[in-house]
Amino acid sequence: MSDTKSSMHCSHCGKLTIFEVRGEGNKDGAKIDYNYHDGQDITTWRILECQLCKNPTIVEVKTSYELIFDAAYGSMEPISFEIAILYPEMRPHLTNLPEPIEKNYKAALRVQDIEPSACAVMIGRTLEAICNYENAPGKTLSEKLNNLVNSERIPKTLAQIAHQLRQIRNLGAHDVGDEPTEKDVPIIMDFIEAILEYLYVAPAKIAALQARLKKTP
Ligand SMILES: [Zn+2]
Repeated sequence: MSDTKSSMHCSHCGKLTIFEVRGEGNKDGAKIDYNYHDGQDITTWRILECQLCKNPTIVEVKTSYELIFDAAYGSMEPISFEIAILYPEMRPHLTNLPEPIEKNYKAALRVQDIEPSACAVMIGRTLEAICNYENAPGKTLSEKLNNLVNSERIPKTLAQIAHQLRQIRNLGAHDVGDEPTEKDVPIIMDFIEAILEYLYVAPAKIAALQARLKKTP
């Protein structure tokens, strides 16, 4: 078994932590084979245990090997890796988002584990994109969000959520000595997803179910 410890973000508890390998195996039971003169790809599945919350994460590692000759001996050497987390699923996959909104939301997803401030700024841009898409009038984001509530496009609770996101965005965007931290990230992602679900995902699901119900008189 390879290295038993690695450090990364746990998708259960959201913390940067150490993982212990609790088991691993290769797809198809593959073994390194010297007969693959042109190289060999091996997929390994590994179960990791978070040392903080004790929950399991399943990782898939694709390793490419090449036959390398050193004097008279040939050996299969790993030349590249590709790592993906199979479980738990990262964030919910939100469908039916209007394009400019999706673009900003995905940008936030990409930096969520790396840079909390940048993530907060991208979430702010996602909110701006929502207001623009909904044609909410106003000079500032705050005014636009209030107008979204006044026009009854979003309920009050979601407006409160949106205003809190806007305040966290301000921490990320301005040098105020109090930056968003990695603890804030899961909360702001949950919050923006609640708004996106309400505005774009749920209506599409309702429409789909309605179409299905129409088929049965
Ligand atoms: Zn954990």
